[in-house]
Amino acid sequence: MTKILITGSAGFVGFHLVNKLVKEGYEITGLDNINDYYDVNLKYGRLLEAGINKEDIEYNKAVPSTKYDNYNFIKLDLSDRDNVLNLFESKKFDYVVHLAAQAGVRYSLINPHAYIDSNVYGYLNILEGCRNHPVKHLIYASSSSVYGANKKIPFSEDDSVDNPVSLYAATKKSNELFAYTYAHLYKIPSTGLRFFTVYGTWGRPDMAYFSFTKAILEGNPIQIFNHGKMKRDFTYIDDITRALGLLITKPPVLADVSDFQGLTLPPARIFNIGNNTPVELFDFISELETAVGKEAVKEYLPMQPGDVTATYADLSKLEGEIGVMERTDIKNGISTFVNWFKDYYNYQ
Ligand code: NAD
Repeated sequence: MTKILITGSAGFVGFHLVNKLVKEGYEITGLDNINDYYDVNLKYGRLLEAGINKEDIEYNKAVPSTKYDNYNFIKLDLSDRDNVLNLFESKKFDYVVHLAAQAGVRYSLINPHAYIDSNVYGYLNILEGCRNHPVKHLIYASSSSVYGANKKIPFSEDDSVDNPVSLYAATKKSNELFAYTYAHLYKIPSTGLRFFTVYGTWGRPDMAYFSFTKAILEGNPIQIFNHGKMKRDFTYIDDITRALGLLITKPPVLADVSDFQGLTLPPARIFNIGNNTPVELFDFISELETAVGKEAVKEYLPMQPGDVTATYADLSKLEGEIGVMERTDIKNGISTFVNWFKDYYNYQ
């Protein structure tokens, strides 16, 4: 059976990917440190949904799923070098999808060390694991935030991304650089995916659409930065996992061309993964109001440090690899999310 490590499997994207890939017959190991950056009960809820009981979880011990024969979960911190390397040694993964990270732009102004521990040091341990026990393909999560205040739209992978405006973005950019180096030195084929604002069921409570839904349902005010004039390329979770599923078994190959130093180009590549349709935050909120059936109480605030005004993914490179990316309409995506939210949190 083909063995895949999915890090961040108690997180939003990781949870959805585990649920998709177990059904496709892969042998999946999920890894997460279940940190408390946001509500841990939601993380345990996601784990339970995939057959992992909270009571059975112990640090650095693989727990089999009670729902899927081909899934086990291990609670482990990526910065725990010895245990991460031991895991690679014992499992000999075919593929790695590395989604665990300290996410969030604004929190990187509050707790910068968390970003270095997980996104730099933890990421290095993943690369070292892949180096010691070569995998066929490492896919890792980068972010649209690497584009910073890029004004050229849509954002293309060929645009310069040397001006990260938050530490979060800087760590994601460093991930791309490290992947290139490891592909060059050790021929580890890698694909970095620049995610553009992912939303959907079992989503992240730290993201605006999630907290806005709760506030609208409860009649509390929502705080709208930059007067709602920010544009985001909101991407529905199922579109992301579908594309990830198609990419896993399509690693880049060592390019048959030389760069300016006369070296063969390494098998490292980067793709945008988004919706290619930016939506104004204000319009996104209107859709939320329609789906909830209530008007939001709005408070307008200025731009926040580290934020960017617009994101917009050019998908031509990704689509050159996997074909046309299926895109869920924002109305359908929001209404599916709101229905899940009301059901999960018992709103009438
Ligand atoms: P998430 O926070 O829900 O999931 C990340 C998971 O990683 C969490 O469950 C967390 O506990 C775990 N984790 C963090 N540090 C860890 C460590 N040191 N060791 C082990 N586990 C650790 O985030 P998500 O939305 O699922 O994002 C997945 C990936 O995509 C992340 O790398 C994120 O930076 C990136 N990304 C997400 C979005 C988005 O809109 N959701 C946008 C751009 C990039």
